[in-house]
Amino acid sequence: MGDADRLREVGLRVTAARLAIMQTVRDGDHLDVDAIHRGVLDRVGQVSLQAVYDSLNALQRGGLLRRVEPAGSPTRYEARVGDNHHHLVCRECGKVTDVDCAVGEAPCLDPVSTSGYLVDEADVTYWGICPDCRSALDKEEPRRNAR
Ligand SMILES: [Zn+2]
Ligand SMILES: [Zn+2]
Ligand SMILES: [Zn+2]
Repeated sequence: MGDADRLREVGLRVTAARLAIMQTVRDGDHLDVDAIHRGVLDRVGQVSLQAVYDSLNALQRGGLLRRVEPAGSPTRYEARVGDNHHHLVCRECGKVTDVDCAVGEAPCLDPVSTSGYLVDEADVTYWGICPDCRSALDKEEPRRNAR
């Protein structure tokens, strides 16, 4: 099924900007809104940042895009939806990497007590240092020690 059909299926009007957003997000790797905006400008010309925000909200509500919001870094979007995968986030550079859920469905962690809540999701984010930043830090290490 193409993006135009997906948009219609969730009751969203098909526009060139929305199709360009879907394509940009799918081609990218957890892009933030500014990067998505640049991708849309490359594909269809003039579209305002506000229009991109509005469309991203509509696409997210329609379940076509997933919002990724690591604490302290810009909101990002991805087209991989519906599989309850999680994210590795680098503390140094903010890079976001997909990691499959070991259980596969939400909520994949049971709280010790639900306090009467109907729990439907556990927000799992793994924080650490990405391979690029690790090797950069390793190179810095000798100089640090020499001081
Ligand atoms: Zn990093
Ligand atoms: Zn992801
Ligand atoms: Zn999980």
